[in-house]
Amino acid sequence: ETRLVENHDLPSDSWQYSLRPHYLKEYIGQQQAKQNLEVFIGAAKLRQEALDHVLLYGPPGLGKTTLAGIVANEMNVSLRITSGPAIERPGDLAALLTNLQERDVLFIDEIHRLSHSVEEVLYAAMEDYALDIVIGKGPSARSVRIDLPPFTLVGATTQVGRLAPPLRDRFGVICRLEFYKPEELVLIIQRTATILNIAIDVSGAMEIARRSRGTPRIANRLLKRVRDFAQMAGETFIHETMAASALTRLEVDSCGLDRTDRKVLEIIIEKFAGGPVGLDTIAAAISESVDAVEDVYEPFLMQQGFLHRTPRGRVVTEAAYRHLGLPLPQEVSH
Ligand code: ADP
Repeated sequence: ETRLVENHDLPSDSWQYSLRPHYLKEYIGQQQAKQNLEVFIGAAKLRQEALDHVLLYGPPGLGKTTLAGIVANEMNVSLRITSGPAIERPGDLAALLTNLQERDVLFIDEIHRLSHSVEEVLYAAMEDYALDIVIGKGPSARSVRIDLPPFTLVGATTQVGRLAPPLRDRFGVICRLEFYKPEELVLIIQRTATILNIAIDVSGAMEIARRSRGTPRIANRLLKRVRDFAQMAGETFIHETMAASALTRLEVDSCGLDRTDRKVLEIIIEKFAGGPVGLDTIAAAISESVDAVEDVYEPFLMQQGFLHRTPRGRVVTEAAYRHLGLPLPQEVSH
């Protein structure tokens, strides 16, 4: 079952690709990342050099791929998109790199999932713009160095902690993307609405923004669903009550939590007295992988202040009890 508030790219999200802003000035929010990139891109252009390698990290759907495209556009070069798991052997990486033009951008999504042998080849490519290839076998084998055009690697990861330190150290620019504030999501929703020709007022956009988990990909998806409800209800535009009732029917609550999020909190409360409880136990209880809990459920629940990480495990907060309308246990209430 796919979640309406899933933050990963779903096959049904491909319509969103055409919404991606092309230049920094159209990219809403992420002020710090944007300001830094503006300086580094400007300086690289002045020197007529390739931009330093850029590492973007943060939860899915916050605009990492979008930003890679913007870097390429701002640098006036081409963009190649691939991902860690897609580069199976060193030869696959060599093929990608030898096809780049000078200053091109190579985007590797999920870069923490590169295999070790591919990573080794990438180190020299990033550092010296060169590929070291072994030709032949046995005693006659020799190593050949192939020069590469200066290029920019833009790496993206949701798990910066899983990146090998030597790889992380080879990025000159490291940007952390943050969850968007509701006011920023309002601007993104309004921009999408204009492009898709959807009528919506500010309060309607704010209602969708509040339930979008700080994530543009989710905001766009919810906007499209709410539009269906508005059309079927014969409304001429999306307003606050319209958006609220549509999203409630879609089981996305006032904070953007869906059934599974609430289940995570409820299980910790009901079965483990609010915690602390280990990650594996949570994963098993909701039949999800540890990765999914860490990558998808936990960051948002923590960002909302519903879940805390302690050395002994995860703990549900007072705010979570209140949000779920559950009585506080004795120890927590005073
Ligand atoms: P990621 O690579 O981090 O998973 P994407 O770059 O694919 O995220 O962004 C998901 C969608 O959200 C894009 O298709 C785009 O429409 C929208 N989006 C992301 N960031 C922004 C932004 N800053 N301004 C406007 N739209 C955005």
